[in-house]
Amino acid sequence: MPQLPGWIANWPAYRQLTGRDRLGRGEAVRSPHTEAAAPRTQAADRVVSSICPYCAVGCGQRVYVASAGGRDAVTQIEGDPDSPVSRGRLCPKGAASKQLVTQPGRLTKVAYRRPYGTAWEQLSLDQAMDMIADRVIATRRDTWQEHHGGQRVARTLGIASLGGATLDNEENYLIKKLWTALGAIQIENQARI
Ligand code: SF4
Repeated sequence: MPQLPGWIANWPAYRQLTGRDRLGRGEAVRSPHTEAAAPRTQAADRVVSSICPYCAVGCGQRVYVASAGGRDAVTQIEGDPDSPVSRGRLCPKGAASKQLVTQPGRLTKVAYRRPYGTAWEQLSLDQAMDMIADRVIATRRDTWQEHHGGQRVARTLGIASLGGATLDNEENYLIKKLWTALGAIQIENQARI
């Protein structure tokens, strides 16, 4: 049989007619690109269970991690089939959450712009937490209302809390307890807006 040009020999219809895959549902119609494809999770050497950070649904995630040069790197994030909440599914936002971890513009330090400042400053987390605590204490003291309209109210209207969508039930419970104990009454969460 004469030697066929490569493009004919590699033509899926030719391979289907002359090879073992007569129905054309397997190797006959597979392209070199497909043959070379590998699972996105293949490079990982371990898998860590996690929860999607984006919203209060709390879908389960499997985080694939590879170690190289003494450093761990997230290589892929997939839905966790063992999660009773999401059973392996992630919405498009959750499915893209690897970008949240790995994108180079991610901020990993506290950024602070002081009043009338024109540039961001970096603060340590301890310093930032102390500054927040100082402001809460001062605001509560300066805006405290013991009575209003002849009634005892024991509250402050100087503090409001708006929780983000990534807070889970337990965090919201603790936040509500904290602010209520401090006398704040304007306590909301994104999920109710
Ligand atoms: S995958 Fe989507 S629905 Fe699930 S927790 Fe993340 S953002 Fe929410």
